[in-house]
Amino acid sequence: MTTQVFKTDTPAQSYINSVFEQLKLKNAHQPEFLQAVEEIFLSLIPVFEQHPEYIQHNILSRIVEPDRIVSFRVTWVDDQNQVQVNRGYRVQFNNVVGPYKGGLRFHPTVNESIMKFLAFEQIFKNSLTGLPIGGGKGGSDFNPKGKSNAEIMRFCQSFMTELYRHIGPDVDVPAGDIGVGGREIGYLFGQYKRIRGAHEAGVLTGKLPGYGGSLVRKEATGYGLVYFVEEMLRDNNQSFLNKKVVVSGSGNVAIYAIEKAQHLGAKVVACSDSNGYIYDPDGIDVKVVKEIKEVKGERIKTYVDYRTNATYTEDFLGIWSIPCDIALPCATQNEINGDAARTLVSNGVKIVAEGANMPSNLEAINVFLENGVLFGPAKAANAGGVATSALEMAQNSGRNYWSFNKVDEKLHEIMRSIYIESKEAAQKYGTPGNLVVGSNIAGFVKVANGMISEGVY
Ligand code: NAP
Repeated sequence: MTTQVFKTDTPAQSYINSVFEQLKLKNAHQPEFLQAVEEIFLSLIPVFEQHPEYIQHNILSRIVEPDRIVSFRVTWVDDQNQVQVNRGYRVQFNNVVGPYKGGLRFHPTVNESIMKFLAFEQIFKNSLTGLPIGGGKGGSDFNPKGKSNAEIMRFCQSFMTELYRHIGPDVDVPAGDIGVGGREIGYLFGQYKRIRGAHEAGVLTGKLPGYGGSLVRKEATGYGLVYFVEEMLRDNNQSFLNKKVVVSGSGNVAIYAIEKAQHLGAKVVACSDSNGYIYDPDGIDVKVVKEIKEVKGERIKTYVDYRTNATYTEDFLGIWSIPCDIALPCATQNEINGDAARTLVSNGVKIVAEGANMPSNLEAINVFLENGVLFGPAKAANAGGVATSALEMAQNSGRNYWSFNKVDEKLHEIMRSIYIESKEAAQKYGTPGNLVVGSNIAGFVKVANGMISEGVY
C-alpha cells in the first residue's frame, strides 16, 4: 500500500494532494494502480508549479479516470470437456495522442488494479515514443501454463468473441504481454478476422512475421532496453564491454535483453523464472535459454542439465543477491523491494534499468537514486516494444514490410531520443540525472497539452 504523503505548501502541491486523496477513496482496493499514480504525481510537482493552466483544466482528475473499462466473461471448454470460466478485461485509458494501444496479459494474478496500473503507465510510455499511440491494456486471469495448444486456441477464440466489438485499427490495438506471444496473437487475430469478415491487419500487433507481423517485434523490448542502457553508459563514457549483468525473468523481454547485452560485450551471469534463478559464471548461453523457454516451454531449472558449471537456486527473488554492474529486472511488477535494492547497492551495482513494468517499488527506486545508481525507469527503458508495435501498425497501413535492419535502426533511434528527451526534461525541471522524473514529465506534457487542445470531454 502507498505511504507517501504529498506536501501542501504550494497551490500545485495542494492540488496534487487533493486529487490523490480523492483517488485513494475511490480506488482503495487497487494498490498497484495507486502506486503507479503516486510515482507519476511525485514527478509532476515541478511541472504544476510552472504551469498553473494544468490545474485550471483539472488535468490530473481527468487523466486518472480511464475513458472506459470493459470486463467480460470468457467461457471455454478444456480438453476434459469441462466448461471453464475466466474474466477478461480491456482498459481504454486515454486516446489523446492516438488509438488506445497496449498489451494483453494472461496470468492468474490479473485483476482490475493491475490492468489499470499497466494502462495508466502505457499512456505516458506511448507518448514518450513520439509515435501516435494512446494508452490501454487488457488481459485475463487465465493461466496458460500447462494448457494444450487446443485449449489456448479455444480460450483465445472465446476471449476475442467478446473483445472484437471494442477494438479496431483506428480504435484500440492490443498486443502481447506476459503469457501472450506470437501464438496467442495468431489465434486472436484469426478469430477477429472470422467475426469481422475482413483482413484488418492493424487491429493487433505482435503477429508473426509473414502474417502481418513486423520483423524485430519479438526482440524489440529486450533490444530496446539494452539500447537505452547503452545511451546511459555512453553518457558516462562507458560501454557494455565486460560488464557483469543480471537479468531477471526468462521470457520474451529477458531473452532478448540477454542476447543484445552479450552482443555488445557484456557477460550476463543470471536469469530466472517465477520458481528460481540460474547462475552461470561462464555467461548465460542464450541459445540454451531459448531452447528451454521458446521451444520446449520448460522451467529454467533445466538449464543446469545443459551447462555443467551453472547452478539453480529455488528462490526467485534471490537473484538480486548476485553481485553485478548492471541489473535488468525483466519479469514482473514489484520484484525489487527496498531490501533487494540495498543488497544490489552494497554489491556495487552501477545501473538498474527496468525491462518489466514497475519491477521496482517506490522504496527501491529511492534507494537507487539516493545512492547514485543510474536508474532507467520502465516507462522509458522498455518502450521499445510498443514503439515497434507502432512501426508494425505503420507497415500494416502501408501494406508492406520493412527489413530487419530498417526496423532495428528505427528502434535504436527511438530509444536514443527517449533517453535524450527524458534527460532534458529532468534537467529543465530541476532534477538533473533523474530519469524517473524526466520520463514522467516528458510523457505527461504531450498528453496534457493534447487534452487542453481537444477541449473538455
Ligand atoms: P513472458 O514472456 O511471459 O515472461 C515473463 C517472465 O517473468 C517469465 O520468466 C515468468 O516466469 C516471470 N514471471 C511472470 N510473473 C511472475 C511473478 N509473479 N513472479 C515471478 N516471476 C514472474 O513476459 P514478457 O513479455 O517477457 O514480460 C515481462 C515483463 O515485461 C512484464 O512486466 C511486461 O509487462 C513487461 N513488458 C513486456 C513487453 C513485451 O513486449 N513483451 C513490453 C513492455 C513491457 P514463469 O515462466 O515462471 O511465469
